[in-house]
This record gives sequence, structure tokens and C-alpha cells, in this order.
Amino acid sequence: MATRTVKRAYKFRFYPTEQQEQELLRTWGCVRVVYNKALQMRHTAWNQNRQRVTYAQTDRAMTGWKKDPELRFLSEVSSVPLQQCLRHLQAAFVNFFERRAHYPRFKSRKRSKLSLTYSTRGFRFDADGQLRLAKMGSPLDVHYSREFDSGSASTVTVTQDRAGRWFVSVLCESEVESLPTVNRSVGIDLGVKDAVVLSDGRRLNPTDSYDVRRKQRKVEQCQKRVAKKAMGSNNRAKARTKLARATAALADARRDWLHKTTTALVEEFDTLCIEDLNVAGMTSSARGTMENPGRNVSAKAGLNRGITEHSFGEFRSMLEYKTEWYGGTVVAVDRFYPSSKTCSSCGSIKTGLRLHQRAWTCTDCGSRHDRDINAAVNINAAGLAVYASGDGVRPARKPAAMQASAAGSRQ
Ligand SMILES: [Zn+2]
Repeated sequence: MATRTVKRAYKFRFYPTEQQEQELLRTWGCVRVVYNKALQMRHTAWNQNRQRVTYAQTDRAMTGWKKDPELRFLSEVSSVPLQQCLRHLQAAFVNFFERRAHYPRFKSRKRSKLSLTYSTRGFRFDADGQLRLAKMGSPLDVHYSREFDSGSASTVTVTQDRAGRWFVSVLCESEVESLPTVNRSVGIDLGVKDAVVLSDGRRLNPTDSYDVRRKQRKVEQCQKRVAKKAMGSNNRAKARTKLARATAALADARRDWLHKTTTALVEEFDTLCIEDLNVAGMTSSARGTMENPGRNVSAKAGLNRGITEHSFGEFRSMLEYKTEWYGGTVVAVDRFYPSSKTCSSCGSIKTGLRLHQRAWTCTDCGSRHDRDINAAVNINAAGLAVYASGDGVRPARKPAAMQASAAGSRQ
């Protein structure tokens, strides 16, 4: 069977010493300063002179900032993550200019998630497999849960989640075997009532997983406890820490479900047709628009919902890189295609179908349709037509997207 070499991220938990934690937090502080200054620089250049600033220009500017007596602390930490954050900013602007993402935002101590990227200059694996980061005396206490080829590692990203847990994500090369061709296609409708509806009639939800249900109950319990404690009290602070931990565990369980579901889909089908939802537009507005009340609102409501807007993007990028790895194709169907209100039996379009109508009857041929399954059947048919004509096939994402979604083994 054919094998191919792919980039793959391996994510492990690690336990920093107090000293290492201080160094990581200090580096993160410097990354925020550099990122924000560079963003300000690009912002001013664009607003005042309609000029685009390059990565190289921001890198030169950083050399100047380090000489500023007030910013001397910038040269006390490893320069590698500082440089990498300028590259991330560059990528964020490219995505913005190509209309894939919103305008980059300033990084804040409270709101932004800690993330430090080390390129090969900034880390090494010892002969005994221990990971050492630049400017850090001792190796990290990483709890490796699976094997990978550390010799092929090209970047190491350190993150800390909201519950305070530390992770390293190692991007390396890995060999995967292609799956046999099965010549089966499926239409996938991503919905609100059911997370994933397939054209063969199946409905898949994170709450099918016992683990997700258990962790969801735990989050709800913790939320109630927080609500009962007095504002500003010590007990409230403790309850909030527990809530953060439970929420992080729930997010892990949901991601695990996404991994299992997407892998099963890629194993079972080789052409996967999905709707080309505008995920960037759906997720990144904090204030929100009239139709879409905004991230914070929906994140809170989303705990009880099948799949959050964020997960739509994650679901799709997992499908894309897994088909890239194992063979197969993801076909994106134009998001303005009326998949819900077209009759999958005769093709006539139902007028006046409301969002709350879960089922409807075609006035032309009399077929009774479940809204979501009908949509999935139409997406499948449209996807195959698009694929046959050679249009609309979206190229697989770059390794950066894979890294963000913490790819594991084929789970
Ligand atoms: Zn019909």
C-alpha cells in the first residue's frame, strides 16, 4: 500500500518547574509586547499611508526596540519565539488580505491564550529524548504518550490552557499509509439541532459519547456552585478554578469526539461533501452582528448545544488533513446553494421554509423530507457534480492548521 510523508503535530502535557514557568510567562509577556508593537506599526502604515509592512521590516524594527532602554527586557528572553510571533502576525495579515480572517487583534494578558513557538534554533531533543528550550537550564518534564520521530521535528509550540495546564505540540514528519479506495461518497450537513447529519440518514452528536455527557454534567454542576457563592469571596474563586478545569476537560472530550468521528468518516467514505460555511465570519466577531449575536453569547449557549461555531471549522480542517493523509477528497459546496429547501427527490424548491420547520412535504412530488437529511442528500449530489466538473475543490490546509488542532494518532 502507498505510504506518504506528512507533517503531523504531537501534543503532550508537561509540568514546568517554578523557574521554567517564570521564564515561559516572562517570554510570553515579551511576545505580547513585540506582537502588539508590530501590529501597531502595520496598522499605522496602512491607515496613514496605505502601505503594507513586510515581515522583514518588523524584524528590523524589533532589533531597534531591543536597544530602547525601556524595552531592554526584550533581549533577556529567547529571541526565537519573538521572531516566530512576527511570522504569525505576517500570516494573520495575509489571511486578512485574502479575506479568510478578521483583522488581527492586539494580544492581551487576560484574553489571549499563551502560545510560544520555537523553531529549530530554539529547541533540541537530547540523546535521551529530553526536550530543551532556549534560555532554559533544565529539560522539560514532558509526559510522552506516544512515539514520534523527534529527529524530524521542525517546530515546538508551548501553550497553556485556561485551566493552567501546560502543553507542548511538536510538529514533525510522519509516514502514513493510504487507505484502499472504496468509491463511496457522503453528504454532510452541519446543524444546530444535530451536530452532524449524513446523507445516509445517520445523526452524530458529541453527546453520543458517554465521556462528553459526563463532563458536561460536571461543568453544569460547577456552574451552579459558582452561582451560589458570594461575589468576590474566596470560595467563589475556588469554585471558578474548578469550573475552568471542568470546561477544559469538556473541550478535550469534544475534540476527542471530533477526531473519532472525522477519522471514521474518512475511513468509510472517500468523497466527503460539505457546505462551504463562512467559518471565519461566524467565529471571530466578538460583538456580533444582528443575525449572529457574537462569540461570548454563543459560547455560553454553546455548552448545551451540539457543536459550536468554532467546531465547524475544526471539523472541516480535520476532514481536510485526514483525507490528505489517508487519501480521499473533501468537496465544498457553495454556501448559497439552497440545500435545505430543494427537494432531493424531484429538485423543486420549497418556498417559505422556516428555520424551525424540521420536516416538510414537497408540493410537487409529495415526498416527505426530514430537513437535515434532505440537505445532506442534496449536498452529496451537488458535491459530486462539483467534483466531476473539477471546480470548487478546496485545497487542503497548511500544516499550521494541523498544528492548531492537535492531531493525534488515528484515533
Ligand atoms: Zn419533490
